[in-house]
Amino acid sequence: MFGPEPAGICDFTVRCKGCGENIPAPVRTLPDSWIVAECALCGERRRYLPSEIFRGRLSQRLSALRGRDLGPGTVRQVKPR
Ligand SMILES: [Zn+2]
Repeated sequence: MFGPEPAGICDFTVRCKGCGENIPAPVRTLPDSWIVAECALCGERRRYLPSEIFRGRLSQRLSALRGRDLGPGTVRQVKPR
């Protein structure tokens, strides 16, 4: 069962130590020890501690890389004023 997820929000995100972009951690639950995540953007393969995993918005460069359109209105955040 997959509910609609907020665009670009990942429960388990790490900040790439190579390029500084937010990438998804390859986990489904918070791990007890460090994990290895490989960045799809710069190819940097690093270890990340559980304390470095957070819920956050993934890099928009990732969605561009996947060639997946997140849909109209989700990428741009235009505040009417
Ligand atoms: Zn990277």
